[in-house]
Amino acid sequence: NAQLLFNAIPKGEPTSDSFKYDTSSTIDLEQELSNGASIVKLICVSLDPYMRGRMRPAEIKSYSPAFELHKPITGHGIGVVIRAAADSKYKVGDHVYGTVPYQQYLFVPGQQTVDEETKKFLGPQASLRVIKNEEGLPWSAYIGAAGMPGKTAFMAWKEIADAKKGEVAFISAGSGPVGQMAIQMAKADGLKVISSAGSDEKVAFLKELGADVAFNYKTDDAKKIFAEHGPIDVNWVNVGGKSFEEELEFMNLHGRIIGGWISAYNGQSFGVRNLFQFVAKRLMMRGFIVGDFETKYVDEFYATIPKKLAFGDLKFKECKYTGLENAPKAFLDMLAGKQSGGFGKVFVQISDD
Ligand code: NDP
Repeated sequence: NAQLLFNAIPKGEPTSDSFKYDTSSTIDLEQELSNGASIVKLICVSLDPYMRGRMRPAEIKSYSPAFELHKPITGHGIGVVIRAAADSKYKVGDHVYGTVPYQQYLFVPGQQTVDEETKKFLGPQASLRVIKNEEGLPWSAYIGAAGMPGKTAFMAWKEIADAKKGEVAFISAGSGPVGQMAIQMAKADGLKVISSAGSDEKVAFLKELGADVAFNYKTDDAKKIFAEHGPIDVNWVNVGGKSFEEELEFMNLHGRIIGGWISAYNGQSFGVRNLFQFVAKRLMMRGFIVGDFETKYVDEFYATIPKKLAFGDLKFKECKYTGLENAPKAFLDMLAGKQSGGFGKVFVQISDD
């Protein structure tokens, strides 16, 4: 039962040595079944920026639990039930989505998929959810646009953006799964959208998604663009740091700011020097963790988003890596914005569905 273990706490940027692909663990299927476990074969797993924050010493507390050294890392995945215990709520052939250890097979509930701390972090998302996929989406979509990152943009946009037709939204890291959905939420509400990403191919895709103004933050002058196309009413901050300082200068009166902060996830910190803009412009910034809004919006999310994705009313782009052994590369590439073979939601295909 191949596993991806957390091997070493990184200092600064993680490296491939932060993980260990381990094939030494074996399983006794009959034993697991007699222990009352259903068996799930994982199909694909997600690589997300927040996982960098979990690569820390256990004594440092945060909103998410630290990964345990020499244990499988955990995150969002989707799998198929291949053996069902007699009293299981799952049937053979059910596809299930949730937080899982990154290994080929998992056992439910013989081996807990999540520990108590993770349960607290995940709240109502802690147990595996059966996904029917009547829409016929690729299963990977359910860990991306129709999974946690899609929920992040859908739910936080509805809850926090207070968007009004004709306003201007700015969305950084627009080509990732959160950015993709945020751009389309903003357009659906009638906003003018400015978005940025780190390559010209990604910028072209932002326009396909509907962004009115798209730029490459590595080669274009963000301030010039904000001066021409701003001011910004809703700032969907995926990057933060130095870019945020620039964005603050171009916020409109009573602007709203919704935050992620990937520029600091490897420990770099940037002291934003113009926070007085919050007072002068009466700005509001609201932090959130996606699970905060799960109960309120989950039914609406699953009732609407997968259909829209399947009918092409919402676009999504994914970037597939094959084989659990390639998950470290997928993760490092995603953090650096250097995805190989495309871009978009980064995930690893472990097995066929
Ligand atoms: P992405 O797939 O977009 O990956 C992150 C991208 O950010 C990179 O690929 C890179 O793309 C860009 N990036 C990384 N470092 C920098 C930097 N220093 N400056 C500029 N761009 C950088 O991620 P997601 O869509 O999954 O997540 C986007 C944001 O949303 C993250 O900040 C994440 O933490 C946050 N989030 C928050 C949640 C919550 O509950 N609060 C839940 C989920 C996500 P590029 O090529 O454009 O540089």
